[in-house]
Amino acid sequence: MSEFALIDRIRQRAGTRADVILGIGDDAAVLRVPEGQDLVVSTDTLIADVHFPADTAAADVGWKALAVNLSDLAAMAAQPAWVALALSLPEADGDWLDAFLDGFLELAAQHDVALIGGDTTRGPLSITITAHGFVARDAALRRSGAKAGDDVWVTGTLGDAAGGLAQWRRGGLMSAKLRHRLDRPTPRIDAALALRGIAHAAIDLSDGLVADLGHVLEQSGVGAEIDLGRLPTSRPLAEHFADEHERWRLQLAGGDDYELCFTAAPADAFAIEQEMAACDTTATVIGRIRADAGLQLFTLEGTDFVVPVAGFDHFPAKDA
Ligand code: ADP
Ligand code: MG
Repeated sequence: MSEFALIDRIRQRAGTRADVILGIGDDAAVLRVPEGQDLVVSTDTLIADVHFPADTAAADVGWKALAVNLSDLAAMAAQPAWVALALSLPEADGDWLDAFLDGFLELAAQHDVALIGGDTTRGPLSITITAHGFVARDAALRRSGAKAGDDVWVTGTLGDAAGGLAQWRRGGLMSAKLRHRLDRPTPRIDAALALRGIAHAAIDLSDGLVADLGHVLEQSGVGAEIDLGRLPTSRPLAEHFADEHERWRLQLAGGDDYELCFTAAPADAFAIEQEMAACDTTATVIGRIRADAGLQLFTLEGTDFVVPVAGFDHFPAKDA
């Protein structure tokens, strides 16, 4: 297939929306931002064997590439609308592209997201997506809004994807349920929209709780204490990782959860529980924001727990 045949394949399958004035096919897309809304924009790249095992099914790659981008919009409490897709492919494989689009467009349809353009090049498999969404003027959730006394919440369960990846790295079989959480993360859009006006700060968990919550603490000028016994844990993770300390390390520093971590006043806990139930999302209070800087992790016995590596870093400091 030629580059143009590939693009045509994408164009034929891409959805549209009334606010897409001009989509795929011209030199650029023309889009109409709703009156009174702020445009929220985010870009993320996925590279084979860095962000997903190279043997990942094409449909799962398509889903995940979009999911991680929608997760960033969710962290800002933005309603997703449009995405651009820059694809680098080792070869013009129409079957791979079709399967990729199956996963990508399945998730796009769930959130009424239109694919409005992109770029197609030859190179190592890599996918870069720019996602655009809307939020009422000045209502975006930021990392910088956490206040001393806030509850610290997380959605869903933590550590599942990291558990799957740990099994894969050991060369063993990956549990199907953990693999599913690695390949098909759920961007918490509905939960995020429900948290507008309630949550004080939010971030999505891509690099691991310690690293990502650390960004919130730093940008908010506060600290936090977390009770490890309260970390929401799935049954498959508990079954496959019986050792509590190993499990905590996965949950704290494993990454790839794509859950939301947010803070809110304790007085709003009941309202939050109701909002989360209404959108079929579980959410758990795992600790509390405090005025003193730093993140303290408490074991069940109330002693400090230290994680050796805080989270994923593409450019870690080299050993001397
Ligand atoms: P240009 O030469 O101006 O970069 P292209 O030939 O790359 O134009 O793209 C032609 C049209 O196809 C543009 O509207 C572009 O946004 C769209 N397009 C190219 N690649 C993709 C892709 N992977 N996904 C969605 N749209 C794409
Ligand atoms: Mg181009």
